[in-house]
Amino acid sequence: MAQVPLIRPYITLAEVQDQFRDVFESGIFTRGKNVEAFANEIARYTGTRHAFLVTSATTAMSTCLRILNVGPGDEVVVSDFSFPASANVIEDVGAKPVFADVSLDTYNVTPANLERKITSKTRAVIFVDALGNPSGVTQIARLCRARRISLIEDAACAIGSSENGKKCGKIADLTCLSFHPRKLLTTGEGGAITTDNDDYAARLHIKLNHGGKPGTVKWDFVDYGYNYRMNEIQAVMGRVQLQKLDGIVKRRNQVRNDYVKALEPQGYKIQKVAPGVLHNVQSVVFTVPRHVERDRLIEYLKEHEIETTLGTYCLSGTTYFKAKYRDVQPNAAFLEANTLTLPCYDGVEWGRVAEAIARFK
Ligand SMILES: *Cc1c(COP(=O)(O)O)cnc(C)c1O
Repeated sequence: MAQVPLIRPYITLAEVQDQFRDVFESGIFTRGKNVEAFANEIARYTGTRHAFLVTSATTAMSTCLRILNVGPGDEVVVSDFSFPASANVIEDVGAKPVFADVSLDTYNVTPANLERKITSKTRAVIFVDALGNPSGVTQIARLCRARRISLIEDAACAIGSSENGKKCGKIADLTCLSFHPRKLLTTGEGGAITTDNDDYAARLHIKLNHGGKPGTVKWDFVDYGYNYRMNEIQAVMGRVQLQKLDGIVKRRNQVRNDYVKALEPQGYKIQKVAPGVLHNVQSVVFTVPRHVERDRLIEYLKEHEIETTLGTYCLSGTTYFKAKYRDVQPNAAFLEANTLTLPCYDGVEWGRVAEAIARFK
């Protein structure tokens, strides 16, 4: 039997080769018309005033912390169930990551868990849309606004998701998207920052362009900065997939429902979505029943040619952060040990996956 892979990209060479040829013939590989167009399309798609294309969600989040002047002596509260990049960027600017525990249903930070971690040193919050699920981000945005704390949304997984009709990108002060191949839309590596705040946009413009402002003849370098810009080839890839994204999200939700029907009767609990939320289903993730050893299950499925993985990581429990801060959060630790991500794409043999799981003892 053929292997069931965990993921499959939604892009083929045939869809981009004409535009790739145009890029090569033009000789313009950076800051060209595709980058400009894709940035505008991301802004339009998310309904935001400004979008910046960058090299990854990691560089996106680093840049957001830099333009907020977060640094040594500051604390940033971060969702504890995520990929380490969410906390690494805080460490990188010399601030202290403070880990807030998550809900066992949505896998996202709750207002109560966030409140518990806010101190007079809290300068920003990084809320993670766990595995693409934005449940609760609107409430967190309201809480942060009331307390005058900046909210960065780590929407690395969440392009196409929305809460109460607002797309991820439109809800927080600054939103960071990823276009890594493990996400729904990929440019190889890549990411974006969206914001409705004109002042943040002006600062991002400078930071992402070596600290400079273009003039008529020469640039004026008013700050230090970076080159974290996306290139033309990547932008071509992004544009093609963005047009297809809403259809992809719809079909992934159908696969998610198929898995739910097959696995909930066996005691597997799907990641929950709050009312008013559209989940882009970047991942289909279940919490395994109490009698199931998750690691053994992953091994068993691998032996049966089915690729699966854990949900994601408990940041406060990684070797580095645990040794440094000694503040492991129980729900995030539980989820790291007991969640399972299943293969999801068009035509996935979900029935074969569900049957293999049912046979596991
Ligand atoms: C993938 C991911 C990142 C990192 O994104 P890159 O574009 O690879 O830098 C950050 N946070 C979360 C939640 C992710 O899933």
